[in-house]
Amino acid sequence: MAQTIITMLKLPLHEFPRINIAIDGYSSCGKSTLAKALAGKLGYSYVDSGAMYRAVTLFALQNNIIVDGVVNEYRLIQELPNINVSFAYNELTKMSDVHLNGTDVEKEIRMMDVASHVSAVSAIKDVRKIMMAMQREYGKNKGIVMDGRDVGTAVFPHAELKLFMTADVDVRTRRRLDELTSKGTFITKEEVLHNLTSRDYADTNRKENPLTKAKDAILLDNSDIDQQQQLEYVLKLMMEHVFKNKLETSK
Ligand code: C5P
Repeated sequence: MAQTIITMLKLPLHEFPRINIAIDGYSSCGKSTLAKALAGKLGYSYVDSGAMYRAVTLFALQNNIIVDGVVNEYRLIQELPNINVSFAYNELTKMSDVHLNGTDVEKEIRMMDVASHVSAVSAIKDVRKIMMAMQREYGKNKGIVMDGRDVGTAVFPHAELKLFMTADVDVRTRRRLDELTSKGTFITKEEVLHNLTSRDYADTNRKENPLTKAKDAILLDNSDIDQQQQLEYVLKLMMEHVFKNKLETSK
């Protein structure tokens, strides 16, 4: 056993046994930043499950399935076979962009209009069923970092490492405001705060796979720690996990 650990310590990170990492948590608490950094460091794929729900919402908005803020659930369910959500690698950003029926919509899905309606769309059972099937497919060969709201509880209940992220709501509001402003979106702090809190409320209180911390998820409050500290912390957790597993299987 000692030999195994010594051998493993010498391994570069990307040669560690591949696992799935599930990151859930509240809106705008840095899930995707951490997930992307982890995926980059480990040579894993990053899957933004929220982008998938946002793409369906964009389709609904483009096709007048959401009128006066109300989602026509019946029509959306009827249209589901015509909604193709996929990811494609973007050479420029070196990231995967979400595509809706073959068109790159990475920019459009980040707009406030989509953010305002996505929780209503993601609460629909049939929508979740299709998205979840795709998400599970992505993770079947391991080596995935996926962030969202129900990844550790429903999509990958057996993920080897689960994190539940949170941060002070003022910190989250400021981060999202900075992000939107830097992209040229004019929006007030109050609007951002309202969007975050109402989405958190809807996502936490819906019937289908609500946002909740999985029992075995590790709570990570990043209000006062920077991105590098978060990354180092999670890499340490991952090493511990790998060693713990090695010890258990060698018993
Ligand atoms: O992560 P992001 O903020 O882009 O997610 C947008 C929305 O998609 C969330 O507010 C939530 O309603 C929905 N979502 C979900 N389940 C996931 C990921 C996102 O319901 N696994």
